[in-house]
Formats: sequence, C-alpha cells, structure tokens
Amino acid sequence: MQASSNPDIPVVGRFAPSPTGRMHAGNVFAALVAWLVAKSQGGRIVLRIEDLDAERSKPVFVDAVQRDFERLGLTWDEGPYFQHDRTEAYRAAFDELRARDLVYPCFCTRADLHAASAPHRGEKPVYPGTCRRLSDDERAVRARDRTPALRLVVPDRDVAFVDQVQGPYAQNLGTDCGDFLVRRSDGAFAYQLAVVVDDAAQGVNSVVRGVDLLCSTPQQIYLQELLGLPHPQYAHVPLVVAERDRRLSKRDRDAALDALLVRFETPEGVIGHIAGITGLAPTCDPATPEELLETFDLAALPTTFDDLVQVRWR
Ligand code: GLU
Repeated sequence: MQASSNPDIPVVGRFAPSPTGRMHAGNVFAALVAWLVAKSQGGRIVLRIEDLDAERSKPVFVDAVQRDFERLGLTWDEGPYFQHDRTEAYRAAFDELRARDLVYPCFCTRADLHAASAPHRGEKPVYPGTCRRLSDDERAVRARDRTPALRLVVPDRDVAFVDQVQGPYAQNLGTDCGDFLVRRSDGAFAYQLAVVVDDAAQGVNSVVRGVDLLCSTPQQIYLQELLGLPHPQYAHVPLVVAERDRRLSKRDRDAALDALLVRFETPEGVIGHIAGITGLAPTCDPATPEELLETFDLAALPTTFDDLVQVRWR
C-alpha cells in the first residue's frame, strides 16, 4: 500500500514538537524540510504540540518552541493544537479497536519486556506476545495487582510504503514489530494512536520527520487502515548526529538553538548553516526558509543527502 498524492488536494504538513526541551539543530532541520516540502507544493503547515507525556512536557518549552519557529521564519498556518485537548478523540478510536476485540491488557513490567527481547540492529524491541495468550481468569487475577497497559493485536503481515526520502520500506508487523501499545498503564493513550488520530483530524497528508520514526510508520499505516483513515505521504530525513551513531541531545550544548544564534549571529545564519551541512543548499551562507524555497526540489530530496540516515553536526 502506498500513500497517494492527488494534485487537487492541498498539501498539509506539520510541525509536531514534543515540548520537553529547547530545539536543537536536528529539530530545526526536520522542521525546515517539513516546511519546504509543504510550501514547495503550495501547501500549509499545522502546528501540533505533542504534550501527551504530561510529566516530561513543560509549559516553558511550549512557549519557547513557538518563539523559536517564529524567529527562524518557520511559519505555520494553523494551530497550535495540543494533544492534551484531544483525549476524547483518542478514546473514541481506542474504543473502536476494543469493540472489535483488537486490544488486550498487558501486565508486563519494563523489566519483563527487557528480559524477553533482544533488540537487534539498534531497532525497537519486538514484543513477544506474552500477555496475548492469557485467559480471562488470568487477566482478572493479574488486574488485582497491576493496572495493565493495552496492546493492539497485529497480524503476521508485511506493511510496505514508499518514503519520499528513504525509498521503499517494508516491515512485517508480527516479526519486526509485535503487538504494540495503544494505551499505557498510567491511562495515557500511546504515541502511535494519538499521532494517527491527530494527523487525520488535522488533515495532515505530508509527514516529514526524523528517520528514527521510520520503523513506527508501518504501525501507523496499519492503525490508519483499521480506523478507515487516509494514509499521508511520508518523508523521513536523516538525523543530525553529534558523532557517528549518536544523535544530538541536550548535552550537545553547541547545537542548542540559543548557542546557534550566538555562533551564527542571526536566524538566517542558523538556517543557512543547517541547510549547507545537510545538503539542502550548496553553501552555508545565511538564508531564510523563503530563500531556500527558490531552489528546493522535492523530487531531488533523496539525492540531496550523502547519507540517508545521519548527517554529522559541525
Ligand atoms: N513529537 C515527536 C518528536 O518531537 C514527533 C512525532 C512525529 O513526527 O510523528 O520527536
């Protein structure tokens, strides 16, 4: 199955920051490509604040991320929408799955999950289906001690799509992914469910994000199928890494936006440098997103990057 693009439907992209820290060069890069992909097709951008994780999300970062986008010229046309306002929509989707007997309670602890899985090639652990086989009686007994999370039953089936950067990608839901969480044990709805419900409700048909989420996409496509929702186009861009195989994080202070604004002096300096080192622009000269739009070529995007998985920060 492949997301289709219809020239009559306007492109709607999105910024979907999690307000758990300040932006760094990697976040700016992904947002810049999202903006260029939408705007180069005459499209719009929706801003969605992904504050599903109430503990890690902080109001100060909700404000900061919006100011940062504005300052960089990464404009949005709609929103911000907040995931904390969307619980009823997630619940409706969840109830639909449950009514079709597609979810089951999972009592595994973090330690159980860790012991049962041997993650390979740095990919996510595959859930071995431990709690799928519990009888109703066993479930009732276990529920006395522990509030369960809820998992979606997945079939032993390949889900394939063509990514606008990475090319064809396929995953077997059963063997590469396993039954995945749709609701956590603390009652919060899981990322995969929320993102699928939100993308559809907000009319998002172009998803641009870091390649670390490539392996989540078959799960999201499968949920879209079950819920009768359209499939967006996907473009997964390389991660900006501090050194080989280590993505940027908060400890890389030199890549934090405040440090970038000091080093490159202006927002145009920051955007131009990021565009230059990633291959979006031929030089690192200061530039606005608008200026980059003049030469941006969506069709050439896969060949823009020397390495489709990582770009070294410098
Ligand atoms: N909120 C996620 C992040 O900031 C992005 C999720 C997505 O793009 O689907 O990493």
